[in-house]
Amino acid sequence: MGKGILERLDEGVIIGDGGFVVALEKRGYVQAGPWTPEAVIEHPEAVLELHREFLRAGSDVMQCFTFYASEDKLTVRGNKAGRHGSTNINEAACLLAREVANEGDALIAGGMSQTPTYAEGGSKEAVQEHFQKQADAFTKCGVDFLICEYFEHAEEACWAVEICKKTGLAVAATLCINKEGDVDGVPTSECAVRLANAGADIIGINCNFDPDTVLAGVREMKRGLEEAGLKRHLITQPLGYRTPDANKHGFVDIPEFPFAMEPRTLTRWDCHRYAREAYDLGVRYIGACCGFEPYHVRAIAEELVTERGGKLPLASEKHEMWGGGLKLHTKPWVRARASREYWENLRPATGRPECPAYSKPSSHDITD
Ligand SMILES: [Zn+2]
Repeated sequence: MGKGILERLDEGVIIGDGGFVVALEKRGYVQAGPWTPEAVIEHPEAVLELHREFLRAGSDVMQCFTFYASEDKLTVRGNKAGRHGSTNINEAACLLAREVANEGDALIAGGMSQTPTYAEGGSKEAVQEHFQKQADAFTKCGVDFLICEYFEHAEEACWAVEICKKTGLAVAATLCINKEGDVDGVPTSECAVRLANAGADIIGINCNFDPDTVLAGVREMKRGLEEAGLKRHLITQPLGYRTPDANKHGFVDIPEFPFAMEPRTLTRWDCHRYAREAYDLGVRYIGACCGFEPYHVRAIAEELVTERGGKLPLASEKHEMWGGGLKLHTKPWVRARASREYWENLRPATGRPECPAYSKPSSHDITD
């Protein structure tokens, strides 16, 4: 039996994997809108390949592709994904993640997210019934730990954590909020305390915001936990996009979401900075969400090579640190770019002179 997630976090830094819905939407296997993971049954080879690319890039955790795989979400507004059955989707996702994790030394995590039942005002019992169904599939398949992610209400996240905690597995919980608080106005520092008291072992923020915003939010969570005398591991899984102009709902309110986000994509050098700042803040589960591709994760692994005992990911065979491979380029002026100083100081142009640097987010308070 290898080391579990908490042991690994006690000893060092863990690198997560990237956002499957967005990456697989671009490859043609996920529909934008419902964002559900029926690809685990319809196109398992595509899911396996993405897991493999993240493993090769340095991810220590394969998140089972179970995002939005609660039974109510798979069928809401006529989504046809539900025809496969939520249990079948959750179990298939676990088997794919395990197959690839076993090709390296990775752990697998079952994940659950916010539900339409909660958004519609459903009772705690009705919401937890959906979480229980997913938790049952995860325990049957022998996942290593659980992640409750992408919750904009701390209350619903706590309900998920309560169900996960009953499995006896370690539980991570991440809200998709900024430093101001959840959508009900619970301060971010207080959200962390509530998640800890519900039983979460690893606490942080995922999705919806860029690394800078997520790190500012997790700094608040860290403060809240410290002031409450609670010790928990911290996790960050930000967007692979820059969103300094986002409101409290994050990137979904930005007019470019979801089909014109590309100009905001992080460079690999942005990921170096993210990894360093997260590490310096004390975050030990440094992960990624929508917009992150395997090469972004490789950049995290390369930045933290010393902290990880000099271990580089397999994908670094094709990527010398700081662009060193360019020394083999034909043109001398490109060879001259093979340095950390060059890439750290570059301010990349977008090639879109007619575009503003920021957009004006739309603003709505109701999710239905
Ligand atoms: Zn995401």
